[in-house]
Amino acid sequence: MSDEMISLFQPWLEVTTVSNCTIDCSYCPQRIFQKHYHGCKMLTLSDFKSALVSVPRYVGIHFSGFAEPFLNPQCIDMMEYAHSKGHRISLFSTLVGLRNTDVERLKRCDPEVTLHLPDNLGNAKIPLTQTYKDTLTAVMRRLRITTFYVMNEHFISNERAGSCTDTKGRHLRGWFFCEKLSAPQFVMLPNCDVTLCCMDFGLKHIIGNLASQSWLEIIRSPEYQKVCANRLKIDGDVLCRKCAWASVNFRTQYYIKRVVQRYYVKQCIAQYCKK
Ligand code: SF4
Ligand code: SF4
Repeated sequence: MSDEMISLFQPWLEVTTVSNCTIDCSYCPQRIFQKHYHGCKMLTLSDFKSALVSVPRYVGIHFSGFAEPFLNPQCIDMMEYAHSKGHRISLFSTLVGLRNTDVERLKRCDPEVTLHLPDNLGNAKIPLTQTYKDTLTAVMRRLRITTFYVMNEHFISNERAGSCTDTKGRHLRGWFFCEKLSAPQFVMLPNCDVTLCCMDFGLKHIIGNLASQSWLEIIRSPEYQKVCANRLKIDGDVLCRKCAWASVNFRTQYYIKRVVQRYYVKQCIAQYCKK
């Protein structure tokens, strides 16, 4: 497939800026990630710049991955750098670690923001300090927020390919579809290793390393090609076969439930605003 065709499917690279997410949400398979990851704890700005050298401009850069991006103090510099190179920027964040004074810098990167808000059950351990509240207010006033998540009783788990504690085991047989196998949506770790997707907390499919390989080499790597080829097989040992995202039934139910969840999240935000 040509680079232009790949670009039609919105490929992106998720960046994990630190190896230990202190928000430690009860739903998130952080322990599994930490058990399998043995690289450096923090992505450096210089490694990030080197990793981006071969990544085409049409590949969006998502600051999300397997940890809260702003736990790395250089995250905002990385966002500015990626934006200056012409990449679309997305952010999935609790805002923990973001300085209020950096909100304007963030705005200039024009990110599409998904906000992960505190919940009444304490599932996400977001410290509710005055600094946090001021930053949240500034972000809600100044940035383009497209989605909100709250891990309350209405939260819908995507199961992270069986890594979450509340998920039932799945094993899909037969052919399956996932857009991430047509347009890559890889996750880069702090040591620049690249893994299959945001479900791969257990690092089952490390498909390359952007410090030593180009984007194209990683797409053509045997590991990624093996997973892609498995789509058309009856069975096999790939993460996708444990993943709810490969199930048409699950996706349909998930999208319907998300409509309901959005309603509850709006109510939740109205309550925050009153406070
Ligand atoms: S903030 Fe995100 S990455 Fe961190 S523990 Fe919660 S869900 Fe996981
Ligand atoms: S099916 Fe699941 S594990 Fe496979 S690429 Fe898609 S999201 Fe990732």
